[in-house]
Amino acid sequence: MGRPFRQVILKMHARCDLACDHCYVYTMRDQRWRMRDRTMSSSVIRQVASRLEEHVRAHGHTSIDVVLHGGEPLLAGVERLAEAVRVIGAVVPARFTLQTNGVLLDAATVDVLADLGVRVGVSLDGDREAHDRHRRRPDGGGSYDAVVTALELLRGRSIFGGLLCTVDLANDPVRTYEALLPFAPPRVDFLLPNANWSSPPPPGSYADWLTAVFDRWYSGGETQVRGFEEIINVLLGGGSSVEGFGTAPPASVVIETDGAIEVSDMLTSAFEGAGATGAVIGSSSLDAAAARFPTMSAPPACDGCDLREVCGGGVYAHRYRAGSFANPSVYCDDLYALITHVRARVVRDIAALPRVAR
Ligand code: SF4
Repeated sequence: MGRPFRQVILKMHARCDLACDHCYVYTMRDQRWRMRDRTMSSSVIRQVASRLEEHVRAHGHTSIDVVLHGGEPLLAGVERLAEAVRVIGAVVPARFTLQTNGVLLDAATVDVLADLGVRVGVSLDGDREAHDRHRRRPDGGGSYDAVVTALELLRGRSIFGGLLCTVDLANDPVRTYEALLPFAPPRVDFLLPNANWSSPPPPGSYADWLTAVFDRWYSGGETQVRGFEEIINVLLGGGSSVEGFGTAPPASVVIETDGAIEVSDMLTSAFEGAGATGAVIGSSSLDAAAARFPTMSAPPACDGCDLREVCGGGVYAHRYRAGSFANPSVYCDDLYALITHVRARVVRDIAALPRVAR
């Protein structure tokens, strides 16, 4: 039996209404998005539902996470999104999340998503200056105001899943983190720029940036920050279901609008077709596609690293260098420094705990 997927990323629409210059879907080496169907069809949705039902049953899952993604998924129209939720939800116990740039999110759409029980994650890169530096409309205008309007609709609602913030060293780290808090996100994800050894990230210390955010978060604790919590969890002996932490194989799969089953959309940074399996949902089970996945376990180059069990070699896409993924992450130094810092804080706090009398 193949790899058990716990998360399915459905590309509901293959285009976007923004033109962010740091977007890993459109601006990198893999340009196959130009050939994809714009919107996932009803036929592909039914095939996805059938394959998910088969997969969940085969692996005995009690539920599976389905992320309605893009491009910008709201371009598919709320009716198509609702159709996907109803068709898939009718055959598998699924938790649905919509990951959106927020621009098209209006009150009526929020109400529909709430009725469907779909959680909503929104991309926000910090304050207006930070956000609009990259997240711009095709005419060059910023998107900050539209996103803030959407977040006002979500604030305090149970379907608000949280914020996704792409790290930009040009932004002050603590100011960026604090700019997210007024929207009361239940969770924040910080995303490193999608880069590898052949296409390096903008220069600078990502460890310093993330460490500053970690210290601010660790002292304040206003929200969950997934990456930091995953590091702490693995340091304390737990497992991680998030790619880039721990040594468990990634448990997610991407299904494109045309039904193509892909490894990860982040592999767009490596080369054309790097994420392709050649399998299509109409003719292939997810287990058969999983057999075509790379192992993605930490490369031998990480074997001597004392943080291998926590870091796991980082995100697979970040390891690529001219023809090979058998390298440590391009963020190796940053990951090592960040995890070392987190470990020192956690160890210090554990040492300070009062002793329990036996
Ligand atoms: S810190 Fe570097 S060497 Fe250590 S596991 Fe991570 S990528 Fe590999």
